[in-house]
Amino acid sequence: MSELNELYQQLILEHNKTPRNFIKPEQFTHDADGYNPLCGDHYHIWLKLDGETISDIGFQGSGCAISKSSASMMTSALKGASLSQAKELFEKFHSVIMTKIGDEIPEATIEELGSLGALAGVREFPARIKCASLAWHALNAALTKTEKSISTEIEKK
Ligand code: ZN
Repeated sequence: MSELNELYQQLILEHNKTPRNFIKPEQFTHDADGYNPLCGDHYHIWLKLDGETISDIGFQGSGCAISKSSASMMTSALKGASLSQAKELFEKFHSVIMTKIGDEIPEATIEELGSLGALAGVREFPARIKCASLAWHALNAALTKTEKSISTEIEKK
């Protein structure tokens, strides 16, 4: 397991160093701001919906390695995906990072997450779960368009 953890750590650091889709798309239909005041992570996310397909997605901003690599992995996974695929992936990702320490996560579930599986280890660090899920919450805010900005701390109330 420690070898795997090391591999995951490298993947996270690599995405942090060279984040994918770290750009504002030329055209977009939805966007939102995501802020995690506990850590100082602050991103803006844009996406272009063509019917049910996320044809383009990008983000900009700054924050810790976990939040940035998570946004990078998320945008990579969702570019070209359908909304239902995105929802399914979010639910899978969310259930993994919220799995109680000590409870086992099926290996197949981690594999289905692709590179996002590298973030499964954050469940051992409760404060970092918000970092890992920030981009997803911003994505949800962008899609629902009910709020232009989300904060991990307002959400709790
Ligand atoms: Zn963070």
